[in-house]
Amino acid sequence: MKFEFATATRILFGEGTLADAAPAAAAMGRRALVVTGASVERAGPLVRALEAAAVSTVAFPVAGEPTVDCIRTGTVQARSAGCDLVIAFGGGSAIDAGKALAAMLANPGDPLDYLEVIGRGQPLAHNSAPFIAIPTTAGTGSEVTRNAVLASPEGRVKASLRNAGMLPRLAVVDPQLTLGLPRALTAATGLDALTQLIEPYVSSRANPMTDVLCAEGIRRAADALPRACDNGQDREARSAMSWASLLGGFALANAGLGAVHGFAAPVGGMFPAPHGAVCAAVLPHAMAINVEALRRRAPGHPSLARYAEIARLVTGRPQATADEGVAWVADLCRRLEIPQLRAYGVTGADVPDLVTRAAQASSMKANPIVLTPDEMCEMISRAI
Ligand SMILES: [Zn+2]
Repeated sequence: MKFEFATATRILFGEGTLADAAPAAAAMGRRALVVTGASVERAGPLVRALEAAAVSTVAFPVAGEPTVDCIRTGTVQARSAGCDLVIAFGGGSAIDAGKALAAMLANPGDPLDYLEVIGRGQPLAHNSAPFIAIPTTAGTGSEVTRNAVLASPEGRVKASLRNAGMLPRLAVVDPQLTLGLPRALTAATGLDALTQLIEPYVSSRANPMTDVLCAEGIRRAADALPRACDNGQDREARSAMSWASLLGGFALANAGLGAVHGFAAPVGGMFPAPHGAVCAAVLPHAMAINVEALRRRAPGHPSLARYAEIARLVTGRPQATADEGVAWVADLCRRLEIPQLRAYGVTGADVPDLVTRAAQASSMKANPIVLTPDEMCEMISRAI
């Protein structure tokens, strides 16, 4: 047994833990850039607690998924205001933005100097400025990952800033913050969490540590996601989903992802489709085609047994087969009314371009088996 496991320096999990964020921030800096979603007001209680703890704040709202330009603007603002700390309070977009800003605050130059795929991909020489991540959704796990996904609207692509020095100094996961999430957002972000547990579990980079985390997370998410969608005030289900999302973050940061996220990067770059919704639309088809490809070309592959284990975890039945696991996930997507990708303007004419781009995506490298172009066409076509 041999593996490496890296995560946030410190994690606070549980209802009410938001109250511990301000005192922790006071030990890291005096002036915080507070990165939020479109609504700064939601972070009002946090901002007041920071000011009371003698940490002054500069608000930086991010509407939608962060772009390279948004990070340039925020870096200038944070530098001119003398910020020595970044706190992100929001969904995956706010957390990725905050993580990228904390990295750029400590490193010279432009985000494109460091971005994968679309930039020069240079390593970030310095660890990020102190960064606290406070998720208000349960899905991305970005509070414990080392990358920030940024969009370049000119190139219609998304790419990551990635470095071990970008792992947050503190993650505060307070499930109470997710209680007000609307049903559709709960469904899409929750299925992102489930994807980020299933893909690392069958990944070519899976390790014994991530295996344990994925099995627990898949079981929890399968049980809690329908309940959190049916009743948004179900505190036990919300807590279980925040836990599953955190486990997914641990897993993806240490074992990688797969074909679903391989497609999510170009689809999200080319169309105005939220990340969680794209993953949810592709997940059942990626599972089905991976299982078929493994049976055809690598019948003894250990990931095939993993797909059967996933079926047992989601159905709770010891005899469940891989195909029944795929059917269970497809049925969940139907029950949660996940739209097909055509709802975002994706058409059959986009398939060749999406396949070419997905084949180059970093996530695709961890898929359990190398897919043929035909298999990738079939996967994305079924999701459209
Ligand atoms: Zn994801």
